[in-house]
Amino acid sequence: MSALKVHNLYRYFGQLQAVNGVSFEVPHGSVCGFVGANGAGKTTTMRILATLDYPTMGVAEVCGINVVNHPAEVRRMIGWMPDHFGNYDHMTVLEYLDFYARALGYKGKERRQRVQEVMEFTDLVPLAERFSNKLSKGMTQRLGLGRSLLHDPQVLIMDEPAAGLDPKARVELKHLIRVLAQEGKTIFISSHILSELGEMCDSLLFINAGRIVHHGGAEDLRRSADALGGVLYDVQVANEAQHVADWCVLQPHVEFLEARKHGGRIRIEVDDPAKSADVLARMIKDGLKVVEFHREERNLEDAFIDILGRIERGEKNVVLPPPTPASQPAPVEVSTASPES
Ligand code: ATP
Repeated sequence: MSALKVHNLYRYFGQLQAVNGVSFEVPHGSVCGFVGANGAGKTTTMRILATLDYPTMGVAEVCGINVVNHPAEVRRMIGWMPDHFGNYDHMTVLEYLDFYARALGYKGKERRQRVQEVMEFTDLVPLAERFSNKLSKGMTQRLGLGRSLLHDPQVLIMDEPAAGLDPKARVELKHLIRVLAQEGKTIFISSHILSELGEMCDSLLFINAGRIVHHGGAEDLRRSADALGGVLYDVQVANEAQHVADWCVLQPHVEFLEARKHGGRIRIEVDDPAKSADVLARMIKDGLKVVEFHREERNLEDAFIDILGRIERGEKNVVLPPPTPASQPAPVEVSTASPES
């Protein structure tokens, strides 16, 4: 049984199709990054999972429990960290956490102990007496994380927790997420910062205009972009840089993308990146004095944007299945279904 399971989920706001036939599963104990542009449908999906909103249609489950039918049970299992949450003026960090611990039903010594544990974990002990509305953004996020951890939930749903954090605070947050993952918690985290998510997530779930367009590892995404959009190389030559551009014009499946000092950036369309060696061999045979032929790894943002462009142009099968299905998370889905009215 998966920690999170969403099947054919729809959420309409009037005519606006915010979530449009979304299906995915997140295995227990894994970290899944939820990525998409502004308005793609991340918060709406997360709010439904967190029992704060109802789907128009479809099923959402947390640890096998239906979020619509059994919201109270689901709430016990999840920690919800929204993108914005209010602090109470004139309430210290300690009072704030204590207040929520009381609301969760903790009493006496157990409550004090739980608050202390959470403050230690989130490194808030030195700030215990600071007013909660006088915290920096990073401290506020740690407080929000602490609040969502008070009842020791199995599943953590975090909506853009890194938004607005400086690099140091981001590293701290990333560290905390790693520790929570090592403890076996399932973490579902949304972000715009794709490269960071790639590092800490077991799988990435991409949503675009309310539809899932990719679910897999960061490598699968790069691989798909490479296979469909060509492999990128930086070529440096000892001859005139223009030679590279002129040479590319005459080659099948090779495109000159941009000039660089002593050469340029080229794209080679091959079904297997290893075949790029044939292109290098041809360059040398044709008299180009190649001093460097260096493969550029697409960053995740480029790969995602590349794939989105293909989807928008109506291309099919734009994301490749993972290379080893047994060890990879849920399959790719490009939903084209529309709900019955
Ligand atoms: P962001 O990264 O900007 O937070 P998101 O991916 O989380 O975006 P959502 O907040 O889920 O996107 O919004 C999806 C779409 O649904 C948007 O067009 C948004 O304006 C709309 N929407 C969300 N909530 C409501 C609501 N309560 N009423 C009407 N429209 C809404």
